[in-house]
Amino acid sequence: MSRIYYTKPSIGPLEVSYATDAATNGWGERCYEYIDRFERQFAAFLGVPYAIATSSCTGAMHMGLSALGIGAGDEVILSDINWIATAAPIVHLGATPVLVDILPDTWCLDPERVEAAITPRTKAIVATHIYGNLCEMDKLMEIGRRHGIPVIEDAAEAIGSSYGGARAGALGRFGTFSFHGTKTLTTGEGGMFVTHDRELYERVLTLSNHGRAKGETRQFWPDSIGFKYKMSNLQAAIGCAQVERIDELIAQKRAIFEMYRAALEPLGAHLSLNPEHPGTVNGYWMPTAVFHEHVEFDRDALLQAFKDDQIDARVFFWPLSMLGLEGLSNNGDTPIAHGIYRRAVNLPSYHDITRADVERVAAIITKICAA
Ligand SMILES: *Cc1c(COP(=O)(O)O)cnc(C)c1O
Repeated sequence: MSRIYYTKPSIGPLEVSYATDAATNGWGERCYEYIDRFERQFAAFLGVPYAIATSSCTGAMHMGLSALGIGAGDEVILSDINWIATAAPIVHLGATPVLVDILPDTWCLDPERVEAAITPRTKAIVATHIYGNLCEMDKLMEIGRRHGIPVIEDAAEAIGSSYGGARAGALGRFGTFSFHGTKTLTTGEGGMFVTHDRELYERVLTLSNHGRAKGETRQFWPDSIGFKYKMSNLQAAIGCAQVERIDELIAQKRAIFEMYRAALEPLGAHLSLNPEHPGTVNGYWMPTAVFHEHVEFDRDALLQAFKDDQIDARVFFWPLSMLGLEGLSNNGDTPIAHGIYRRAVNLPSYHDITRADVERVAAIITKICAA
């Protein structure tokens, strides 16, 4: 029986031809060509004027928060259900991550909990669109406006998701993306910073170049201590091919989710999948099954059953406040986050997964539910 991976990039002849061209010709005067092109194409896809390619989403977030002036003594609100990458830059800047609870249906930030967590030290709200599901951006933006606090989007998992007609990542003060090998669009490792705000863009551009301002005529002259989170031209070449194929990549993610929805339909009394609320489109980065509270469900038994059948599955994110890391505690006031992770798993989704593969995964879930 063949192995079913939980993700796998879709790399075809276009990626290979651009990467080969970059490796052959993309040096010297041409060493930024694919980077510039990838940034332009990605910005156009997203509907934003400014984009900066980075070595990771973590780096994009680190620079964006730094450009907003976030530092020691400041607080940044984010969801307790998050990858550590969203919290780490806050800690590195000397600020305090404030972890709040999620909504039970979207598994994203609960706007009421966000508002309750605001203090005079709050300097930003980070909205992570988890697994492609959308945060309630209207409510979060309204809270942000009322309190004068920028809302930032971690859209690493939300390429292909949109809210009220705008693409995820294009709604907040800035957005960040990841092109890690597991993501819908990949450059191996990589990320993107996007914004509508020209001034913020210029600040991040300078930060991303070790503090050297664009237009500075003196060679090797930094004006500030910056960062080095650049994407290479080789990675950007692969990114250009991926962004040209983005509609196809997203459509396939959505088609895979539909296969799961159909195959798991009979188990509606046992579990829920990623929601797609009116006014939103879900890019379905990770099809995720959350078993209902009244259902007797042993996550480890399911993971073992998958493993025995050569199927990779992923655990739902642990609440960050559960990791026991310094600076990431929250007094246990995120009961929904702490209740969900052990009732949930991510299901395999990659571009050339077959309907038969999806049905094999669904059959194991069905068997576990019947047990
Ligand atoms: C993947 C991911 C990141 C990190 O991306 P890197 O490119 O690995 O830095 C950040 N946030 C979320 C929500 C992610 O899923």
